[in-house]
Amino acid sequence: MARKPHIIVVASPAQGHVTPLLKLSHQIANQGIKVTFVNTEIIHEKVIAAMSKNEKDQQTGRIEFVSIPDGVEHEDDRNDPFKFSERFQRSVPGNFKGLIEKINDSNKDEPITCVLVAATMGWLLDVAQSLGLQQAAFWTGSPAGLAFFYQAPKLIEDGVLDSSGNIIDNDQISISKEIPPWNIYELPWYFTGEQRIQKLYFDMGLVVGPTAQRVKWILCNTSYELHSPPCDLVPNILPVGPFLTSSENSASSGSFWPEDSSCLSWLDGHESGSVIYVAFGSIAVFSQPQFDELALGLELSGKPFLWVVRSDLANGSPAVYPDGFLERMANRGKIVEWAPQEKVLNHPSVACFISHCGWNSTVEGASLGVPFLCWPYFTDQFYNQKYICEIWKVGLRVSPGENGIRSRTEISEKIKQVLSDDDIRVNAQKLKDLGKRNISKGGSSYQNFIKFIDHLRS
Ligand code: UDP
Repeated sequence: MARKPHIIVVASPAQGHVTPLLKLSHQIANQGIKVTFVNTEIIHEKVIAAMSKNEKDQQTGRIEFVSIPDGVEHEDDRNDPFKFSERFQRSVPGNFKGLIEKINDSNKDEPITCVLVAATMGWLLDVAQSLGLQQAAFWTGSPAGLAFFYQAPKLIEDGVLDSSGNIIDNDQISISKEIPPWNIYELPWYFTGEQRIQKLYFDMGLVVGPTAQRVKWILCNTSYELHSPPCDLVPNILPVGPFLTSSENSASSGSFWPEDSSCLSWLDGHESGSVIYVAFGSIAVFSQPQFDELALGLELSGKPFLWVVRSDLANGSPAVYPDGFLERMANRGKIVEWAPQEKVLNHPSVACFISHCGWNSTVEGASLGVPFLCWPYFTDQFYNQKYICEIWKVGLRVSPGENGIRSRTEISEKIKQVLSDDDIRVNAQKLKDLGKRNISKGGSSYQNFIKFIDHLRS
């Protein structure tokens, strides 16, 4: 008789990894499969602290949240990417193995049967292998990014890339005629501007190809129809997205900050298609001059806006608003530290999304039919912008001036432009319909997901 499935899901310590893996975990748990969700201790504390009472109640018995130490003993080392990465990779496998053994000892009827990890932590699958467990991986970015890393070893072998991820003798790189090339600045590791750090990030990405090759499936948050050319380049990709939670669902989204739901009732008080939603994910930071221009651009647009201003958005410090801005905007703007983003994007009042184009935000906006204004910050966000503006045609770029700053006039002009662009609106609606079809019974992502569930039960 087949064993009762019990999947352990391990997220990298980043919001953009925890959120989609948790959404996937909820879907798996909805199929009656036991899920244990592992975060590092620091992230675990944030996620639990940010949960509302309602979320905690909903959580009970569905998904078991557990944690392991990340191996970093000195706080300063956490801010040093080299030390962090070295300590993390050295300690986490042993800690993870110990955790699995402890769980299995205390729950002999339902031992862990499958390990699902974020693909950038593919080295953790050695633990699964040594314990004879099923292995699966999840890629948190776009299928194009996955296809790139899948081919990266060959690109190095062919002399197209060097071992630090620099393009040799060219300023762009193509892996297929069917998908757009990457300009040098669109390579996910390029942003650092420093060779040593660039190589560190490139090496993290290089883990992904061999990981994809060793697992039966590498799942990702998209649908085949939305991305068929890059999906065709990775034989065992299993697109199971877009991940959308229904608006009634109050299970935890894994946010690191408490979600301020007051913005939903604020949105209720606005006309359909009237509000600009502005959010830059969990990592992007702004210089004070850029922060000022954004504030003044929103003011100049004359539109109501909902703006997520994390406490560390202004270069790690609390934001300082332009003189009198908060008073002038008191009746027009709503500012929150963290929003229930998916619910916001699903709200009829939202007209467009000023976004940094992180993959999760990209999928959420695209599958909820919201036109974008793209303002990428780093990693894969420049390439995601390309998909939004040139392939799907559901958004416009907000372009920086020569000084690198996006001016208030550019911001306000682009807001007006995107709101009056009927083609963008029609395309956005098409993506929404497509996403809905893909995850509905019989849709390709739905079928892929069921394939995965059957595999867990086999
Ligand atoms: N998010 C949220 N509330 C906010 C801002 C962001 O819930 O106010 C969520 C968003 O829905 C997405 C995730 O945080 O799922 C951010 O992931 P993304 O890949 O877009 O960006 P990252 O944070 O990795 O840069």
